[in-house]
Amino acid sequence: MEFADSHAHLNDSAFEGDRKEIIEQCFKAGVGTIAEIACEVQEWQPALDLSAAYEGKIFPVCGIHPDYASTLTDEKFKELETYLLKPQVKALGEIGLDYNEYDAQPKDRKIQQQAFAKQLDLAAKVNLPVVLHCRKSRQADDFSAYEDMFAILKNATFTGGIMHCFSGREKDAFRALDMGFKLGINGIIGYKRNDDLRAIIKKAGIKYLLLETDCPYLPPQSKRGQRNSPVNIPEIAQTIAEVCAEPLFKVAEITTQNTCNVYNLK
Ligand SMILES: [Zn+2]
Repeated sequence: MEFADSHAHLNDSAFEGDRKEIIEQCFKAGVGTIAEIACEVQEWQPALDLSAAYEGKIFPVCGIHPDYASTLTDEKFKELETYLLKPQVKALGEIGLDYNEYDAQPKDRKIQQQAFAKQLDLAAKVNLPVVLHCRKSRQADDFSAYEDMFAILKNATFTGGIMHCFSGREKDAFRALDMGFKLGINGIIGYKRNDDLRAIIKKAGIKYLLLETDCPYLPPQSKRGQRNSPVNIPEIAQTIAEVCAEPLFKVAEITTQNTCNVYNLK
């Protein structure tokens, strides 16, 4: 079976000692298509270098993550455009809104919203899909990150893409699908507390899903506490197969096809 990881950070320092070995293990596990997400300025060139070393298997996606929104100066914005014009870069991302209060650093929502809107316009200009990051506040009933994201998307032109690490409400999933986005599903689908997410994914169906790891973060249930990697993609696929009552081969086939379609891979 062939699998794809639509969202990985293999250039993360967590892979410093054994990156090559891990990548070989991924290919052996059938994960032969991997999107390397470079979402900080200094990650763009290394992502291109990594994709050059594994041509046709690993490809770069460049952008500015909402946590680094304040680094998107006019100069960096222009530089981002030059990266996006390179044929090996398949999407702009990950971009969006992060309202999670996990660290002491205050997050300026206005700056995040501006950087997001600006990058959406750029994606439309260079005709690339976008990889969206939307993370809600820790307050259980505060979904303003999703509300603000959809408000910005409503006023933007874009050519579709992925809502990565989907973890919103049912109505957020269907609003995203209505706008032409697919949902990126990773290891959190198997976490015990995520019954709501499993119900939403079952309702949406596998034709709207892409597999992802978001490695080195968010390992699947059986590997909690460990470093995540694309080697775990088949386990995530297996969980989705169980949740959606579909055979594993079909989950592999459809999600891999979706990844190729969204990123316009040949
Ligand atoms: Zn990510």
